[in-house]
Amino acid sequence: MELIELAEDRARFLLRDTTPSFANAIRRACLAEVPSLAIDEISIYDNTSVLFDEQLSLRLGLVPIKSDDLGLFTVPEECDCGGAGCPACRIGMTLTAEGPCTVHSGDLRFADPGVAVAFEKIPIAILGEGEKLMLEGTVTLNRGMLHAKWQAGTHCGYKNLPEIRVSDECEGCGRCVEVCPREVLVIGEGKEKGKVEVTDPVRCSLCRLCVKECEVGAIKIVPLEDVFVMKIDTDGSMPAKDLVAGAAAEIKRRASLLSEQLSELT
Ligand code: SF4
Ligand code: SF4
Ligand SMILES: [Zn+2]
Repeated sequence: MELIELAEDRARFLLRDTTPSFANAIRRACLAEVPSLAIDEISIYDNTSVLFDEQLSLRLGLVPIKSDDLGLFTVPEECDCGGAGCPACRIGMTLTAEGPCTVHSGDLRFADPGVAVAFEKIPIAILGEGEKLMLEGTVTLNRGMLHAKWQAGTHCGYKNLPEIRVSDECEGCGRCVEVCPREVLVIGEGKEKGKVEVTDPVRCSLCRLCVKECEVGAIKIVPLEDVFVMKIDTDGSMPAKDLVAGAAAEIKRRASLLSEQLSELT
């Protein structure tokens, strides 16, 4: 693994010496298998806003929620309480507001001081004069495969790392440089003066516009079959590095589970 970029909500890295199925397993685990927090159930006591209860529930469910320590929580179905409800698997939340105002995600209150919304300014509803919202509910930990509200990974994908080969036939006409939408190619000024040089192959989208444009066939794009450029973005409910590490842990957990089940059969 080779890190290209790591920010709070995005990670870019190379995976080398591996297969498409493993790169895809990481991608899928980031999308669907790493547990995250979301509002699960709500009881609405008062809603005189223009929003139906169902619209309100949907908006609240999709608010990204973070925690100081996700390790403190358990998926209800896997909790020692058997899913009946305890502080490890259900966190209380409330929302009370009266118009005129715009209700934002930052108005949500949680029973656990270590739990908070990832972004304070997500609009939930606009309340007119005298309109009210009063509700309570529970936040639970679960996986994106059950419902998209628990999906911490948003834009998760991969591509093969391209190898861009420029042969000696290159005449330095610059046509490939002009058509490249990612600014990957430049006309060299160093030792390859007058010929095309590659700046950063990671940026190449493998569109092959440069290949089509080159009349002498001097440029070739070859996807490296065992090197992958991974792109992982999160919804803000957890740092990107935790999401990727969580994806690897989930794959390991499921592999161990499969191994145990297979050993029971033999
Ligand atoms: S289009 Fe072909 S010949 Fe022209 S600069 Fe690019 S690689 Fe060289
Ligand atoms: S394949 Fe597309 S993105 Fe890559 S170098 Fe050629 S034109 Fe640029
Ligand atoms: Zn519990």
